Amino acid sequence: MAAENPPHQKACRKEGCRGSVPLALGGEGFCLEHFLEAASSRTNEALNRCRQGRNIDSKSLALLLTDALAIVQNLEEGAAEPNADERERMLDLLLVVANVHEYVAHDAKQRGPLGQGSGGISPH
Ligand SMILES: [Zn+2]
Repeated sequence: MAAENPPHQKACRKEGCRGSVPLALGGEGFCLEHFLEAASSRTNEALNRCRQGRNIDSKSLALLLTDALAIVQNLEEGAAEPNADERERMLDLLLVVANVHEYVAHDAKQRGPLGQGSGGISPH
């Protein structure tokens, strides 16, 4: 792929931030830094709910999926100029989203109270 400049790069909508919005995050309107900040707080909140055995509504789940997709796309677009720290944060976030999904899928299958210690996901 040729390294062309994007037609027009938007600026982050967070006040006071001058970061530019990556193409993959155009819908969010945040630069990568602020997108990751928002996405990881959403995701960690969801994971906490799972661990407490609480339900996650499908709307939140869909939002997490959207985040994950944007991250994957952004990883692909940034592959030419890798930033180890950012990549790590993004991959980390994807892992948490995957974890949340495991919880939700497991929960839906069981459809009952938790407490059957039949080897699930081990935290870390
Ligand atoms: Zn920003």
